[in-house]
Amino acid sequence: MRVRRKKRTKRLIVLLSLLLLGIVGFRNILPNLGDVFQYHHVASGEYGWNLILVNRDNYIPDDYTVELTELSNGQKVDSRIYPSLQEMFDAARAEGLGLFVADGYRTAETQQQILEGKIEAYKNEGYSSEEAEKKAKEWVAVPGTSEHQLGLAVDINADKSQSTSEEVYEWLSKNAYKYGFIQRYPENKTDITHTIYEPWHYRYVGNDAAFEIFSQNICLEEYIETLE
Ligand code: ZN
Repeated sequence: MRVRRKKRTKRLIVLLSLLLLGIVGFRNILPNLGDVFQYHHVASGEYGWNLILVNRDNYIPDDYTVELTELSNGQKVDSRIYPSLQEMFDAARAEGLGLFVADGYRTAETQQQILEGKIEAYKNEGYSSEEAEKKAKEWVAVPGTSEHQLGLAVDINADKSQSTSEEVYEWLSKNAYKYGFIQRYPENKTDITHTIYEPWHYRYVGNDAAFEIFSQNICLEEYIETLE
């Protein structure tokens, strides 16, 4: 009787140990499972097409479509923002500035290529694959989370023969809102946008939203929250 009980106790201990090991082991693989089955909130256009919020937590819907207009230098933007963009550039040029759209609409494939290129560049600098990927993602948005895939964002550069980058960025930061554009990733909002300061990246949100965002000194994430 006693022997049996001892045996049973032993078995119980072994079983509990296995269970514990199992839990520890499972917890260790959980982060990886999390990567595979990552839950992606899909960006919503509930406040209008111009206010769709796309960031690392809100992915562009798979069925998102956009009608594009091609600029004179071959870059493309959502046709609905083209008139405002042209108006803004006309105004800047009238003040003597030289500027151009360096990057407009991008496909998910292009975004993927840019990300992979950046990862490669870091690897060539000697970073491990994991580190290189982490560092690259600080600079380049993961496909599905870039506003460039919406066609609503443009990277504006200076035409160096006419203006410095600083002059162009300065003008845009003060005037873009009048044309419905916002500086999407301000220096003082990186903890909210989770994106580095990008003085060249402008996003169309429409005149009303742009005015509010500019005058209240908030970012798009904060503005959307005021609507909720
Ligand atoms: Zn950009």
